[in-house]
Amino acid sequence: MRLILLGPPGAGKGTQAKKLIECFGIPQLSTGDMLRAAVAAQSEIGLRAKEIMSSGKLVSDDVVIQIVAERIEQPDCAEGFILDGFPRTLAQADATETMLKGKGLELDHVIEMRVEDDELVRRVAGRFSCAHCGASYNDQDHRPKVEGVCDKCGHSDFTRRPDDNAETMRTRLKAYYKETAPLVGYYYCKGILQFVDGMKPIDEVFADISSVVAPRSSSGNP
Ligand code: AMP
Repeated sequence: MRLILLGPPGAGKGTQAKKLIECFGIPQLSTGDMLRAAVAAQSEIGLRAKEIMSSGKLVSDDVVIQIVAERIEQPDCAEGFILDGFPRTLAQADATETMLKGKGLELDHVIEMRVEDDELVRRVAGRFSCAHCGASYNDQDHRPKVEGVCDKCGHSDFTRRPDDNAETMRTRLKAYYKETAPLVGYYYCKGILQFVDGMKPIDEVFADISSVVAPRSSSGNP
């Protein structure tokens, strides 16, 4: 299954992708995560991307297309993948189609996750994650059960993304509406777009996504 999760920052794409990995056993390809890893490794791409990312603007198409083209060649993508945060522009969407066509493949689903702007800003401004296992939390409605200790792995180092602040979020939202939202029409015209209400609680959103991608097994068994 080859699936795109489409939605603005804070829509819950990463959260839902992690649940889909558990359920369907296919990898999550997050260009944001890949770029952050490149920044941390101080690679050439990372050095080029760092400032752009912290301003909330988009990294150039050729860089992200190259990263994804290399990643989908890996053996763990043979049965499919979940694209999270990619494509983000029409040029990236065209490149995705060309990449897949070259392999005789196509996309199965594009799921647009709709969330109101006020809620996006609230979620992003409050989010943090475990530096050890990546589990996500939120200041307001999802703190660790024991303060300062990760529910999942028990470590006590937490981290916040430098671009998760109100000012950068405004730029990121503008980039979404200007560059990425046109993909809704693009995939609608291809007949593979469906939307879910991302305002619902995480498990309900997951049930809705499951019923789109595996209609006969929406109970959770693929
Ligand atoms: P994300 O983790 O998806 O919110 O991405 C964080 C930042 O990485 C974005 O604000 C962009 O600067 C950059 N980025 C991630 N994916 C892409 C993409 N597909 N195209 C361009 N820039 C991207």
